[in-house]
Amino acid sequence: MCLVVVVVYSLTLLLPLGQASLPLVINTWPFKDATGAAWGALQSGGSVLDAVEKGCARCEADQCDGSVGYGGSPDENGETTLDAMIMNGDTMEVGAVADLRRIKNAVGVARAVMERTTHTMLVGESASLFAENMGFTAEDLTTNKSLNIFSEWLKGNCQPNYRKNVFPDPSAHCGPYKPRATVRDKQMRRHANVNSHDTIGMIAIDQAGHVAAGTSTNGLTHKVPGRVGDSPIAGAGAYADSSVGGAAATGDGDVMMRFLPSYLAVEQMRAGADPSTACKTAISRIKRHYADFFGAIICANTTGHYGAACNKVAGFSTFFYMVSNPETDKPALLSVDCF
Ligand code: ASP
Repeated sequence: MCLVVVVVYSLTLLLPLGQASLPLVINTWPFKDATGAAWGALQSGGSVLDAVEKGCARCEADQCDGSVGYGGSPDENGETTLDAMIMNGDTMEVGAVADLRRIKNAVGVARAVMERTTHTMLVGESASLFAENMGFTAEDLTTNKSLNIFSEWLKGNCQPNYRKNVFPDPSAHCGPYKPRATVRDKQMRRHANVNSHDTIGMIAIDQAGHVAAGTSTNGLTHKVPGRVGDSPIAGAGAYADSSVGGAAATGDGDVMMRFLPSYLAVEQMRAGADPSTACKTAISRIKRHYADFFGAIICANTTGHYGAACNKVAGFSTFFYMVSNPETDKPALLSVDCF
């Protein structure tokens, strides 16, 4: 993430916390073209759902920092798979896809799940088949870059990985793995670090207070095939309720999804908390159990106020996010100090 932050930081004016105003687009990380795409959708008369879909789709097409869309985060088999969701805060409908293969536009498929089925989430091969039937193009998501990440990992004895209580010893060897006879509860295997992932999480709120939120990611590099993170889970990756506002999260999804931080933040705002305080409460809840988890969250309410919070860990003391509203004449890069 760091390199991207430095480059974008130098290209974009870093503003102090701006004034509340509607409409509003806010998203995780310095993915400013995604913010611009979402803002453009609102300006041309699109709905908040159009804005979130267009914004996240822009990141999928651009691959943002390699952590969204095709050609990033190869799993243990070298394959890139995608997780995404979109939520309509007026109707509380959600569309989500997880472990999606061979389709680049994951957030588009998520929206199709919401609008063309009565389900909430489709996964794996069946989600890809659904996408093809809905007119999305099937193509290989592998690139030279993702192949290279994968072959370097194989050469390095498959380090790091996310296995535990298996043999051969996963801290030194590749699989295939078998379960070890004894399960050592205390065995601490690594959780995701700061560099192996990111997600675009986005909230859009229009003048009338309609709220939508969504996410898109290719998950964790070297994940176990089939792994689904927090990003496509309503209440974890994102949440929207047009009577309150929205929230979206990024970070170690295996830990974060256990706490539904986006739902918690929205409920805090419903109870009267301002967005920054609501975001902090969601992070604090996770910290209580996983002091060193990597993660951040953005929050916004229907009056156009917004905020963010993150957990301070080695290598991650500031979280960057983007905002567009009538006060910013172009997408503005903001930051928050982690605590
Ligand atoms: N939350 C994502 C996941 O765990 C990754 C990230 O946002 O950094 O799949």
